[in-house]
Amino acid sequence: MSWEDNVRRTVPYTPGEQPKISNIIKLNTNENPYPPSPSVAKVLSRMDAGELRKYPDPAAQRLTDALSAHFGVPADQIFVGVGSDDVLAMSFLTFFNSGKKIFFPDITYSFYDVWADVFRIPYETKPLDENFHIRPEDYFGENGGIVFPNPNAPTGDYLPAEEVENIIARNPESVVIVDEAYIDFGGRSVLPLIHKYENLLVVQTFSKSHSMAGMRIGYAFGSRKLIGYLNDVKYSFNSYTLNAPSILAGEAAIEDEDYFEDCCCRIVATRERTKKALRELGFVFADSKANFIFVRHPQLDAGQLFQDLRKANIIVRYFPKARIDQYLRITIGTDEQMQVLLDFLKDYVRKHV
Ligand SMILES: *Cc1c(COP(=O)(O)O)cnc(C)c1O
Repeated sequence: MSWEDNVRRTVPYTPGEQPKISNIIKLNTNENPYPPSPSVAKVLSRMDAGELRKYPDPAAQRLTDALSAHFGVPADQIFVGVGSDDVLAMSFLTFFNSGKKIFFPDITYSFYDVWADVFRIPYETKPLDENFHIRPEDYFGENGGIVFPNPNAPTGDYLPAEEVENIIARNPESVVIVDEAYIDFGGRSVLPLIHKYENLLVVQTFSKSHSMAGMRIGYAFGSRKLIGYLNDVKYSFNSYTLNAPSILAGEAAIEDEDYFEDCCCRIVATRERTKKALRELGFVFADSKANFIFVRHPQLDAGQLFQDLRKANIIVRYFPKARIDQYLRITIGTDEQMQVLLDFLKDYVRKHV
């Protein structure tokens, strides 16, 4: 007998690389290429460091109130956490306790199976169809909970809100989590449905559309009951999840609606231009409503192209996994960054195809 027999063993999630070298074009972790709203820098530079001696507000009320005003949802129907990863992990722990299998897609955010494993939650993955679409009917059977991103990652495929509602309506006995990390880039949020379905949790984040991955702010909307249970678990773990600068920065970002909308529009415009150029080079991909495109080239090996891009200081994401090992996930950067990528690919296709 050894202490090691009693260790909670787990295979951790592998985050995308954060290279230390400068001069690279980083299109591998779906970060926003633009800085956060200027009001974020302002509020941080004005912050009195002396305030840091105090614990932050455990309810992060200034941030929750700003979210409440922006989305028109009462503050007691909003939960905040340290990135949506924290919000999602807390939600798995709070809601997926039936002992029945939870369902999520086979190709999706690769943190879901990690949380399921670490919390000992049984799960079953539901294969996307051959065009990488979620098949709603796969989620109608008996389950212990449902979670999927919309748009999905890493495919970028968007499931229309009516079909998401169909999944929720067919599952009144389990909690349905819709992970809307990329919803601001063209999809329609199912947020209004929280008033119709008590078991729906809608999760969003500041990391992508608000350019604040480094700040770690995530949030979720749900019924009062659902949010109440989430807060009970949070306060049983750690009361002070969000630090004081994050609360101020998040509040400033959410209030700058014009900057936010302008930034999302720019990314969508760049994405559409990039799609057109990639198509002309022979790449194929499902339509993306996210800030990335999941592409394949019928005559090029994705693993090789990934390495060759890296040698040219362009970093994208490659998943050496079944069904998707001939795809690359390319984050939408600035127009200038995408032009460097496209120039490289144009030359590459000419030489290798
Ligand atoms: C990026 C991402 C998240 C996590 O984002 P946070 O930085 O933790 O807010 C959650 N879900 C999906 C699908 C993502 O791609």
